[in-house]
This record gives sequence, structure tokens and C-alpha cells, in this order.
Amino acid sequence: MIPQANPGAGYRALKPEIDEAVARVLSSGWYILGNELRAFEAEFAAWIGVPAVIGCGNGTDAIALALRGLGIGPGCTVVTVSHTAVATVSAIEMTGATPLLIDIDPVHYTMDPDALGRVLRDPPFGLPPIKAVVAVHLYGQPADLDRILPLCRTFGAVLIEDCAQAHGARLHGQRVGTFGDAATFSFYPTKNLGALGDGGAVAVSDAALAERIGALRQYGWHKHYISEETGVNSRLDEVQAAILRAKLPYLDSQNARRAAIAGAYTAVLAGGRLHPPRQRADTGHVFHLYVTRSAERDRVQAGLKAAGIGTGIHYPVPVHLQPAYLGRVALGPDGCPETERAAKEILSLPLYPELKPAEVDTVCAALKAII
Ligand SMILES: *Cc1c(COP(=O)(O)O)cnc(C)c1O
Repeated sequence: MIPQANPGAGYRALKPEIDEAVARVLSSGWYILGNELRAFEAEFAAWIGVPAVIGCGNGTDAIALALRGLGIGPGCTVVTVSHTAVATVSAIEMTGATPLLIDIDPVHYTMDPDALGRVLRDPPFGLPPIKAVVAVHLYGQPADLDRILPLCRTFGAVLIEDCAQAHGARLHGQRVGTFGDAATFSFYPTKNLGALGDGGAVAVSDAALAERIGALRQYGWHKHYISEETGVNSRLDEVQAAILRAKLPYLDSQNARRAAIAGAYTAVLAGGRLHPPRQRADTGHVFHLYVTRSAERDRVQAGLKAAGIGTGIHYPVPVHLQPAYLGRVALGPDGCPETERAAKEILSLPLYPELKPAEVDTVCAALKAII
């Protein structure tokens, strides 16, 4: 069986470096907020091209911390998409703010800027004022920030980039995470940069904001033992920071390998009934996921399974249709018809840097046979 994702292969590929990093932390006697985290924050900030990175417990907390650091909470509405990991919406509610979910552009699966413009110009009645937008760079592809960012500026909303699936993705040659007022990352094991456990980070340009988010992640302490505001406990521990430091130098070549595998799939799928993903012009897609689309999705998925090929659906149920949100979460005036249609038709193929050429050939042969 070729799995859709394979974090264990990611560990085995770098086992000597990772084992050395873990052993280094274990014998150091320092396990929380130490030199490994400080070094990782500096190295990851330099890699993205931002002045400051603040490590935290996971990608969900990263979004909540970024929003809180920017002053977003009760009495604010935050616009995002329904076609995302539920974490994006969960994080908004963690701050006490009200999420407002809008539809996607059906070609690229990221936020529809027209839908954003409509809710900003004419906010739905009864909601608190819109103060923030969380744009998700879904599947590894930058959202349409050329249109989203000016809308945010015009209407006085802060922009948070959810980069949980897009470490290293580029827009006009510039890495995502450098465009908004803050950007958030997850290091969940299957992400392009994955820890061997939970981890997350916020990237910011403003030093005062970095300081505030650093305090919020640890009980609101600016100084030890003195909480100036109520914070949380959400720290990236030394073991995970050391693992991420070991893996970061390989991330660019791993992203290139993902893109090469994606290219092989696209060459097979071109013109067939299983549609390959489409890339927005002048973007560097990092293919966290390779998401195809077909009206016969379930048949294709079953056929691939029979051929020993694992697939995934990201995501099968839009956030606004999930039991915890159904009938409760606010939607834009047009609803999310493209999101609902996509959820029935999308299918993620196996994609991780350690996929061997022979395995890629196996997947391609199975795709040819099915389409
Ligand atoms: C994975 C993910 C998150 C949440 O990250 P965790 O580390 O699992 O909390 C948030 N947003 C998106 C788009 C994700 O893919």
C-alpha cells in the first residue's frame, strides 16, 4: 500500500540528524523555552524572510495567538473560508471573536476575493464589525493576496495568513508569511515542515507584536511570574524545536521533490476525467497536497484503493456543515455553494518527498488505468 502521506518515511530519511538533535536536548537538561527554540525561531524567520517568529504549541494556537496579539477578540468578526481545516475556524472562536465563512474560488480552492469584497462592503446584519481576515494558503498554493490584501487595507481589517499548508510557497517570488499583519504555521507531522509531535509558530514583522505574542503564549508574562494580561500555555518544546532545526535545511529540496511528483501526476491526468490541480500565475506552489477533482470521485478512490494506493479527502465536510457549526456559524449572503460542490469531488493523491520514483510510476500507471 502506498499511503497518501508518510511522516514515518520523513523521519527515517533524516534519522541520524534527528536522533542526534533529540539526544542533544535530552542530555542538555533544558526542555522548555531554551536555546533550541530561540535558534529555530531565528532560523525559520530568516528562511521565510520576516524579522520575528514565535514558536507555540500547534498551528491552531498560532492563529488564535496571532489574532489576540492583533487585538482581535469578543466584539470582532473574522472572515475566513469554510473550505479549510476546521482548526482555522476553531482558532477564531478560541479568541471569542465571531467567524464569518465565505466561499472559495472553485479553480484554486482558496478564498474568493469577490465574496470577501461583498461582505466587507455590505456586512451581514447582526454581526460585530469585521476586524480581521484569515486567508488560508490551501494545499500549498498562495491565496489571491493581490486582491485580498488591498480589500483588507481599504476596510480596516487585519490580514492573517494561515500558512499551515504552505511553508515556502511563493507569490511573485516572495514567500508567503511575509504579506499579512501576521502569519501562522503548523508543524503537525504531515505538514511540509513537520515535527514529530505537535508544533506551531507565528511570523510577524512588528517587534512590539512579537513581544506581545511571546507573552501571550506563556500566561501573559512579559516578565517572569508577572501576568500583564491573561495568556495561555502554548509553547514549542525544545525537543520539537531541535527536530525542526534538523529538518529545515532540507525543506527547499523536499518542496522541489513534491513539485516534481506533482508534475508527473499532472502529465498523466492532462485531458482526462480526473482533473489535475491548477496553479495561479506567478506563484510557487509547494504541494502540501495534490488535490484532483472528479464527478466520479468515489469510484476513482475505490479503484485506486484496489490498486494499493491510498488517497485522502481534504476536506469531506465543509466547516459550516459539521455538527458543531451547522446552523450556528455565520455565512456570507451567497452561502458556500462552490465549497459544498468541491467537498463532493476532491481527492488527494499520495504526495510526500520520500515517495520513490518506482512508487510514483505505480501511482501513474494506476491513474492511467482508471481514467
Ligand atoms: C493543519 C492546519 C491547521 C492547524 O494546525 P495544528 O498544528 O493541527 O493545530 C490550521 N490550518 C490549516 C489550513 C491546517 O492545514
